[in-house]
Order: sequence, then structure tokens, then C-alpha cells
Amino acid sequence: MSEKKPFEIARETLKQLTVRKLAPTPINYQTLYNEIAGVPQLPQFPADTLRDIAQALPAKTPGQQKQRGLLEYAIDRMNWDGVKAALIAYGGFTPATADSGVTAVAGMALAVADSASSGAPALTTDFLKQIGRLIEFMQPALGSDDERFTEQTATLLKAIRQPASDVTTVKLMLVNYSDRLSFAAEDQAEIKKTLLKLLHLVFENIAELSLDEQWLKGQMDALMTATAPPLTLRRLDDVERRLKDVMFKQKDAKGHALQAQEEMRKMLATFIERLSQITESTGSFHEHLENSARLIEQAKSLAEIAPVLKDVVGATRNMAHDSKISRDELVTMRERALATETEIQKLHQELDRVSAQARHDPLTGALNRKGLDEAVDREVSNVRRKDTPLCVALLDIDNFKKLNDSMGHATGDVALAHLASVARECMRPQDTLARYGGEEFVILLPDTPLDKGIEAMTRLQRELTKNFFLAGSEKVLITFSAGVAQLDKDEKGADAIKRADQAMYLAKRAGKNRVVGA
Ligand code: GH3
Ligand code: MG
Ligand code: MG
Repeated sequence: MSEKKPFEIARETLKQLTVRKLAPTPINYQTLYNEIAGVPQLPQFPADTLRDIAQALPAKTPGQQKQRGLLEYAIDRMNWDGVKAALIAYGGFTPATADSGVTAVAGMALAVADSASSGAPALTTDFLKQIGRLIEFMQPALGSDDERFTEQTATLLKAIRQPASDVTTVKLMLVNYSDRLSFAAEDQAEIKKTLLKLLHLVFENIAELSLDEQWLKGQMDALMTATAPPLTLRRLDDVERRLKDVMFKQKDAKGHALQAQEEMRKMLATFIERLSQITESTGSFHEHLENSARLIEQAKSLAEIAPVLKDVVGATRNMAHDSKISRDELVTMRERALATETEIQKLHQELDRVSAQARHDPLTGALNRKGLDEAVDREVSNVRRKDTPLCVALLDIDNFKKLNDSMGHATGDVALAHLASVARECMRPQDTLARYGGEEFVILLPDTPLDKGIEAMTRLQRELTKNFFLAGSEKVLITFSAGVAQLDKDEKGADAIKRADQAMYLAKRAGKNRVVGA
């Protein structure tokens, strides 16, 4: 027997577990403890022998099968109490009614699993029902490409929902199912990652192709940021809207470029054709004249000259005719060129109109009014559905006119873009930033009560003091005044913005550079 005190043995046991890199299981602990304490090793749990016994038990009726399953379950867990309970139940088993049968058996499964948890909720029919629901709800997320997995899921759901489910069978099926589930989940995660990579590649390429289109480039950059993880439905929604804008604008830009190109191509072809005709007819006219001149020189009488002159007059008339045709055609071409120019101008106007319909402000990349209206509708209906708080913040840059006056309008523009970018950085992915007017922005903060909304805006103020705006080498501190309103029950989104605006006005009156709750 060792001379060591029990706490020393315990400490040494723990140390040896680490030194020998053994898993900290009760058996490993017990074995080491005995070794260090110098006491004989206790017999290990005779799992194999017990399993032989369990196998030898008849399992002809569903009741016997269930009880044998419970016994095997207890053996797997090396739980003596469980083995005892299962054997007693096996011996005295009397079939119960379908529903309570499941409850009784299931309840025992938990008792076997953990004898100390007699007060814990039992594995009831309801529990199985919940597992069924869980599996069913998870199904869409795992895709339906793997037919065998889909089939396995259907069989498992059926087994779970049977009035008197066989717990052992269900357990086995669940084990198989979870193995397969882990593969399916990994697959889905990999698919998502690859798709995102692909999407980024597409965005990068479009951005490269549209170097001369500043608007498009800005939108592509925003798309890249919006598709960076973590992805939320809101951000994907934003990606979708931005892509629609881009496609809309690209389609139009491409359409108009192709049309102009085609028109120019046609005009150039006609021009070259006419030019060659003119040269040709001028050439033959000259030849004709030279020939006639020679004939006239050699003529001995007027009678000989007369037909030559007639010929020259004819050739001159033809030449004049050809020239007139060419001139007429050139005039037509000029008219057409003018018409094309007008058409292109009209297309430009149309393009501007179309851009106005886009949902993003080109300067700051934030949503424009139209985009904001849509986002407000979406968030308000979310609030109604989920009954969660929504905050609306309206901020107005302080003394922006002064900044414009002292540093120029162009610098003012960059300052606006800077504010938007700082705001985006410190907002959560689910928040929405929109340009409400000149130097006014609205931020929608879902799942946010008023105090947290005010906190978020104060945080943005702090962020702006750390992340000051650089105009050349000059540091410029941008401050803003903001009003925050929490959407009331039955209140319209626009009314909440109005309340936030009023609170912002109060913040200005109180000395600017502050946040006021409505
Ligand atoms: P306050 O602190 O009271 O808000 O004063 P303020 O000067 O910010 O407000 P005011 O309404 O007097 O002026 C807003 C200025 O914002 C005037 C306008 O020229 C400027 N502004 C509006 N839109 C733009 C823009 O797109 N770019 C630039 N550079 N300036 C803009
Ligand atoms: Mg203003
Ligand atoms: Mg202002």
C-alpha cells in the first residue's frame, strides 16, 4: 500500500494522465489511481460478456426487442444501474397501450442513460415529435441532390412518427442519420464557400471590364464587400438589389453603344462605297475627256468633231448625274448622322432617368431614397411578423456648408463618402445605411430597442473622432447631430423617420454633435 495521502494520489493521477497522454475517462483515471495507490485493479466493466447475455435474450415480440435494446444501450454506456433497470423491465414486461408504451419505454431509456437524472424530462412521444420536426426543418438546408440521404431521412421520419416507435431502432437510425448528416452539412458548407468564391471572381471580372465606368466600378466594390462573410439574408438582399442595378445600367449602356456602333458602321460603309464610285466615275470621265481631246486634235473637219463633242456632252451629263447622286446620298447620310446624334442624346437622358431608378447613391454607395423606401417597408413588415424592436436614426452633418465653403464642393463630396464608409464599418451586417438628402443619412437598426439605438449612434460619433477625414494632409473632424426613434406599434416607417428628424433638430438646437432619442 502506498504511503501517499488520497489528495496526493489524486494529484499524481491527474499529472500522469497528462504525462501519458491518456484520455481523461473514468476508467483511465481509476486504473492510474489504483496503480499509484498500489491497490489491486478492480475488474473492468464486462461489456463483452454482458453483450453476449443481451444477444442470448429472446427478442421475438416488440416488447422484448425494446427492452433488449435498452439493455444494450446501458451496456454501451457501462451503466450498471441501467443494466439492472433494463433486466428488471425485461423480466416483468407487460405490453402497454401504443402511446403510453412509447412514453414508458422512452422514459426508461433516459433512466438508463443517466440514472442520476431521474428529475430530468423524459424522452416522451412529444420529444420524438420534436426530433421529427427538427429533422424536417433541417432538410431544405441540406439540399435534395443526395437521393439516398433523402430516402434515409424519409424512412427515419416515418419510424419516428409511428405511434409505437421502437426506440432502439430509432436510435440506430438516428446514429446512421447523424453520420450522413455531418457529410451533407460539410458538403453544403463547401458548396456555399465555392459559390461565394465564384461570385467574387465574377464581380472582380466585371469590375475590371468596366474601368471607364466609375459608377459601375463603385457598385462592384460595394458588391464585393456585401458578399464577404458573415452572409445574412439582408446582405444577400442588398447584393441582389445592387446586381439588378448594375445589370440594368450595363444592359442600357451596352444597348446604346451597340446601336451607335451599328449606325456608324453603316454610314462608313456607304461613304466608302460612294467615294469609290465617285473616283471611278471621275476616272472614266477623265479618260473619256482625254480620248475626246485626242480625237479633236486629230480631227480634220467639223463633221468629225461633232460626234466627239456629243460624246463629251453625254459623258459630262453622266458625270454630273453621278455627282448629284453622290451629293444627295451624302446629304442623306449627314441627316442620318444628325438623327443618330439626337437619338444618342435621348438615350443618355433615358440612361439618367434609369439611373435615378436605381436604388443606390453613386457618391456614397448608400441606398438612395427609393432604396430606403423599399428597405423601410421590408424592415417594418419584419417587425410586424417577428415582433422585434426597430430603430430609425437620422443624422445630419454639422456645419457642412462651412466645410464646403472653406475646402470646396469636391472635398465636401469626399467627406460624405468618408462618413458613409465609417458608418458602414461600425454598423452590423443587418443594419441599413441610406442617404436621405444632401448631408443627411438614415440608418435602420433592426432588433434594436431605443437605448441601444442611441448607443449605436454614439459609437459612430466616437468612430468618426478616431477615424478623422483627411483632406489632403489636413485632418478634418466631421461631427453630426442625430435623432433616434423606435418604431411604435402600428406606426408607419415614414412617421418614425419624421420623429427621428424632429429629435435631430432638437440635437442641433441643443448645440450640435449629439444624439437625442425621440
Ligand atoms: P447644420 O449644422 O445646421 O446642419 O449646418 P449645415 O451647414 O450642415 O447645413 P445647411 O443645411 O446650412 O447646409 C447643408 C450643405 O450641404 C449645403 C449644401 O451645399 C451641402 N450639400 C448638400 N449636398 C451636397 C453634396 O452632395 N456634396 C457637397 N459637397 N455638399 C452638399
Ligand atoms: Mg441638412
Ligand atoms: Mg447639416
